[in-house]
Amino acid sequence: MTEIWDPEVRIIQPGEESGMHPSDAIILFDGTDLNKEWVDLLGNSSKWIIEDSAMVCVPGSGVIRTRREFNDFQLHVEWRAPSEVKGEGQGRSNSGVFLQGLYEVQVLDNYDNRTYRNGQAGSIYKQYPPLVNACKKPGEWQTYDIIYTAPRFGEDTTVYFTPPMVTVLHNGVLIQNNVKLRGPTLYIGIPEYSVKKHGPGPILLQDHGNPVAFRNIWIREL
Ligand code: MG
Repeated sequence: MTEIWDPEVRIIQPGEESGMHPSDAIILFDGTDLNKEWVDLLGNSSKWIIEDSAMVCVPGSGVIRTRREFNDFQLHVEWRAPSEVKGEGQGRSNSGVFLQGLYEVQVLDNYDNRTYRNGQAGSIYKQYPPLVNACKKPGEWQTYDIIYTAPRFGEDTTVYFTPPMVTVLHNGVLIQNNVKLRGPTLYIGIPEYSVKKHGPGPILLQDHGNPVAFRNIWIREL
C-alpha cells in the first residue's frame, strides 16, 4: 500500500565527467556557434567573440541573452577571468549571470581581491554574500551550478506571492543555500521592492567592461 510505482521516475544519463551535461540538458553554448542560442539585447548577433572554444566578452559590446526564456531551472556555467590581472575590487574581471534577466549572480575575480562581501563572486548582488569564497586563480576555469525557482505572483502584481529562490555551487562548493531574493538586482539603492509581475525570462551574461570568458553552458528546465 505504501509502495508508489507510477509514474516511474524518469531515467537520464548523468555526465561522465564533472561538468559534462546530462542527457536532458539544453545546450546553451558548446564552444562553437554563439549566435545559435545568444543575441544582444536588441535581438541582433552578439559582438562577443569565440576564442579557444570559449565565448569572450568584448568590452563595450553589451550584454548578451539567451534566445530562449526559462522558469525554474538548473544551470551550469563555466567562467574564467583572464590570467593577466588588471584592476581591483569590482573592476577585476567583472561579469554576471542574470537569472530571468533580472537577478544577478556575480562573476568577479575575487582571488586575492577584496571587495564588499555582498558584491563578490557568487554573491546575489547586493542581497546575499556567498557562504565562502571558493574562487580559483585567474586564468583557471571555474564552475557555477545554479538552481533557480522562479517567483510566483498573486493578484497584486507588485509583490511576490513566493519570491525567487536561488542555490549556487561554486566549483562544487555550496555558496548560496536556497536564499529568497528581495527583488531584481539594483546597483544603487536597496533592492526592495519595485517588482513587476514577470513570467519566464532569459539567461543574461553581463558586459561589465572586462574580457571574461565562458564555456560549457547548459540548462535543465525543472
Ligand atoms: Mg557583475
